[in-house]
Amino acid sequence: MMRILVLGAAAGGGVPQWNCNCGICRSARQGGNGIGRSAQASVAVSADGDHWFLINASPDLRQQITDNPQLHPRHGLRHSPISGVLLTNGDVDAIAGLLTMREGSPFTLYAHDNVLSILRANSIFNVLSPVHVKRQPIRLEEPFALTLPDGRPSGLKVTAFAVPGKVPLYLEGGAPDPDAVDTIGLLIENGDSRFYYVAACAEVTPDLAERLAGAPMVFFDGTLWQDDEMIKGGLSAKTGRRMAHLAMSGAQGSIESFKSIAVDRKIYLHINNSNPAWHPDSPERHHLTQAGWEILPDGTEISL
Ligand SMILES: [Zn+2]
Repeated sequence: MMRILVLGAAAGGGVPQWNCNCGICRSARQGGNGIGRSAQASVAVSADGDHWFLINASPDLRQQITDNPQLHPRHGLRHSPISGVLLTNGDVDAIAGLLTMREGSPFTLYAHDNVLSILRANSIFNVLSPVHVKRQPIRLEEPFALTLPDGRPSGLKVTAFAVPGKVPLYLEGGAPDPDAVDTIGLLIENGDSRFYYVAACAEVTPDLAERLAGAPMVFFDGTLWQDDEMIKGGLSAKTGRRMAHLAMSGAQGSIESFKSIAVDRKIYLHINNSNPAWHPDSPERHHLTQAGWEILPDGTEISL
């Protein structure tokens, strides 16, 4: 048994993004067209409902904690039900929220060595004192147990695997490292319950398809509807491919790619504010719903 709490479904910037005046962001700001606000992508997971682990620490983390009673302090003067944070990459929208967690509560930070070295290289993350925050490297394809701050088992088991991705934008231009693992996916398990978290992914490779086949639930990268929508919308010069994000639509897109993969519940996460599927009445949303995909409002809790 597991409880999974959606803390945010949006890509970097959120919906609305602070400086964006596009139709979707305007609607979300003003409350119109049924477009709700959404924080930057993250979920929390718990085996017992008392201790929670965050997958990524988004820049919206302080608000996400405030908005979700599951993550509020429960007893004493200082307490948090957050027992750990798993990082899937070193992007700003995955790590900036760590700076919110600097007030001396104990938790464990789990990340691949490449991401831990980014944190080490940026001394601002030293606000997370090693006295309170243990940093534990994640090794690919080696299942490990998530533990509570007092060392007891949480009941949750994690297996990390590499997915096609790229280095964070702010590190682009450095010498390319052919061995770099920039983006990981996660399998989270408790007994018979399990789900996958793949919120950034450049391609559904045959290996990935085989891994996900038969899964009860997958959170998957929903950044863009169309590979060139940010260019067409006048928002950016970048395609989804350039950002290492697979589009929802198109022959290589996630909707088509998952047609041959048996997954019970498919949920999009990391959806950019340029994506027309944010409109609940849009043909794009209709299309993805027909194909068995979901977009969930922030605060949705799933029992698995
Ligand atoms: Zn916008």
